[in-house]
Amino acid sequence: MIGNYINGNHVNNNHSNNFIDIYDPSKGESISKVILSNKKDFDDVIQSSSEAFSNWSLETPLKRSRVLQKYKYILEKNIENLAKIISTEHGKTLDDAKGSVIRGLEVVEFAIGIPHLLKGEFSQNVGSNIDSWSIRQPLGITAGITPFNFPAMVPMWMYPISIACGNTFILKPSEKDPSCSIKLAELFSEAGLPDGVFNVINGDKEVVNLIINSHDISSVSFVGSTPVAKYIYESSAKSGKRVQALGGAKNHLVVMPDANLDQAVDGIIGAAYGSAGERCMAVSVAVAVGDIADKLVDNINKKAEPLIVAPWTDSSSQMGPVISAEHKNKIENYIQSGLDEGAKLILDGRDLKIQGYENGYFVGPTLFDNVKKDMRIYKEEIFGPVLCIMRASNYDEALNLVNEHAFGNGTSIYTSDGEVSRHFTTNCKIGMVGVNVPIPVPMAFHSFGGWKQSLFGDHSMHGTEGVRFYTKLKTITSRWPKSIQKGPEFKMPTN
Ligand code: NAD
Repeated sequence: MIGNYINGNHVNNNHSNNFIDIYDPSKGESISKVILSNKKDFDDVIQSSSEAFSNWSLETPLKRSRVLQKYKYILEKNIENLAKIISTEHGKTLDDAKGSVIRGLEVVEFAIGIPHLLKGEFSQNVGSNIDSWSIRQPLGITAGITPFNFPAMVPMWMYPISIACGNTFILKPSEKDPSCSIKLAELFSEAGLPDGVFNVINGDKEVVNLIINSHDISSVSFVGSTPVAKYIYESSAKSGKRVQALGGAKNHLVVMPDANLDQAVDGIIGAAYGSAGERCMAVSVAVAVGDIADKLVDNINKKAEPLIVAPWTDSSSQMGPVISAEHKNKIENYIQSGLDEGAKLILDGRDLKIQGYENGYFVGPTLFDNVKKDMRIYKEEIFGPVLCIMRASNYDEALNLVNEHAFGNGTSIYTSDGEVSRHFTTNCKIGMVGVNVPIPVPMAFHSFGGWKQSLFGDHSMHGTEGVRFYTKLKTITSRWPKSIQKGPEFKMPTN
């Protein structure tokens, strides 16, 4: 049974007694249950976060940084352990899970530099004997609502920076794989984080709505699907909160005729099928420009077909199951709709059965050729191991596809032409762009975020954007007149 983590303690005697199942996606069996917290549980969290804020916000940035330094070492020792927790509930391979913990850890490393990041700006003599400076102050109680696909990394895009800035943080993780968040909080306590600075409340949309409507919470960070992101953005803003809401994606990878084909194919295979396509930076559309198309399709097919789809406990696994029976069904319906709408199905991942795991939620690598703009498999996010090939006769047509799509998370171009690459990076309407790199995920000291339907709000996550999001700017202008107490005869030295 998974409860909440409040005030430095595992809380299993919650007010709510409503639980839902958590599944092992490889077997399709319930392995545990998680609490769906109610208003009283939420009130306990708010009280704890609010009490913790008064002291934590007054700690010096250096002291806060030292707690993060300890946390970093503890996390490093627990990478394997955290990865196993992730793979058990999510199903992704152990290597994928470890990689995601490491990417999260890098945000902790970035946040350790908080004394430097909060230094502010100073201007002397903005007027005669007048100085002006800016400082950044914490917001108060901040909240994060996160998706199932990265149970460590996505929360870690948020809370290390928020907490380093002097806020307290309430995390509402996905109810599909909540155990990792509880472990992350427990390890933070072990590092010396004061009780209540980081609380985890489990639940579903009932808790999300309590967060959105709470007058005690200053900001909401959200990552998940676009319809929910839009809802969170609009309703949180309406209740006066600062909000960043990252949504879904449909990432295009453009392959020019002069691209290194082998590199492009290897990049596409990892980016389209890794983590069973359940990554917001997964490549779901490959745009083949000109006469490279036939070779590209052929080579992708040859490499996708033998990918080993197996549970994470099998060390040869290259791709695990998808998250739920419902999601598997949704992906398979999309595959059928692609066929019905006239796309050419080159590789069909449906009806995959793995001995001993017949009830697992496995979908094999799937490849469509001749996909057109008006098809559902092109317009909508599938979030599974389904790759669409679009054929474009020239670069302009490829760029238009990228720019006219509703989503704007990531994109990439494979080419050996610097002029084309520069034109692409300058003119594509996308937040994160790669050149001869399949998944252009920004490092922790840059910021992560898309454009268009992939991000609602003004700030991307982590990096300096994260520091700005989690702090309020204050600008002070000050003049010191002659001190009356020193008397009229007192003169300041001239230099
Ligand atoms: P989701 O939108 O279903 O759920 C995300 C969170 O919102 C969960 O905590 C869930 O409990 C909550 N939620 C779900 N429905 C809600 C509702 N009606 N009202 C209020 N809260 C609700 O997303 P998911 O299926 O967990 O994750 C997959 C999605 O996340 C994909 O669309 C993927 O592209 C996106 N994603 C985006 C990024 C990014 O950086 N842009 C990163 C990771 C995942």
